[in-house]
Amino acid sequence: MTPYDPHNVFGKILRAEIPCTKLYENDVALAFSDIRPQAPVHALVIPKGAYVDATDFCAHASTAEVEGFWRAVGAVVQQLGLSGDGYRLIANTGADGGQEVPHFHIHILGGKNLGRMVG
Ligand code: AMP
Repeated sequence: MTPYDPHNVFGKILRAEIPCTKLYENDVALAFSDIRPQAPVHALVIPKGAYVDATDFCAHASTAEVEGFWRAVGAVVQQLGLSGDGYRLIANTGADGGQEVPHFHIHILGGKNLGRMVG
């Protein structure tokens, strides 16, 4: 795995060097709207800690970070009104996963029937 690069765009958002449309924040996670939405509702949830991808986060995040991160995902789902009709969580990881930003993040997509999972 490549080392964490603090100059990635989500690192800049965490340091308030560039703006975001913030949706939710707790001690360990930040959620904001995706700048290029792929569905009527498209949010991103990122840990505040420096984790490259899902593999890194799962291996190295503390119990408090893991819990707080997933509680944040759940809070954003509720806030966006997605729990009734459903939604999709995606964690693109690495080259084959099509990950563009090397700071772990979960996409929350919803607001319509999203169809098949892949392709
Ligand atoms: P991924 O391919 O999983 O790494 O997705 C990265 C996501 O970050 C894409 O959906 C982008 O539209 C989104 N993105 C990139 N830059 C920004 C930004 N400045 N603010 C919000 N979302 C962004």
